[in-house]
Amino acid sequence: MIQQRQHAPAPDAPLSRDEAIASVGPGWARLVANAWDVAHSAGWPVLTCKEKFGRLVIYLRSGDITDTHRVQTVGRAMFDAEEHSAETCEACGAPGVLWNDVTHDAPEPLVGVSHARWVKTLCVPCAWRYYGEGDRGWDDIAGRWCVG
Ligand SMILES: [Zn+2]
Repeated sequence: MIQQRQHAPAPDAPLSRDEAIASVGPGWARLVANAWDVAHSAGWPVLTCKEKFGRLVIYLRSGDITDTHRVQTVGRAMFDAEEHSAETCEACGAPGVLWNDVTHDAPEPLVGVSHARWVKTLCVPCAWRYYGEGDRGWDDIAGRWCVG
């Protein structure tokens, strides 16, 4: 029997600040919070916040796009958050790089994304936990090694 979710959000329901932060790893919380604040102050709801190919991705419902200053302000904030995510450990917030798990035992920084599977941006200790030991929970990854 298929059960319907009674309180399922509409597909384009805006994310609260906390929901947006919880959508990605805790190491990116500050990046998401800053981006959400800028979007919110511009009146542009955040619809999606996720990790894709090791980077933060944020989708908004844009408002008045004739307001050039607002478009540039919000656009720059989203761009900055996404750019910084590429060099910030998603687990703990320390400086990070893009990794994959092709070898499953010796993570190595990627030069390009090309053939990588499970690409993540992590610091060295978190990458070791994630790829070397197979931990996938954020608390397991960041809790033992990092202060983040
Ligand atoms: Zn880390």
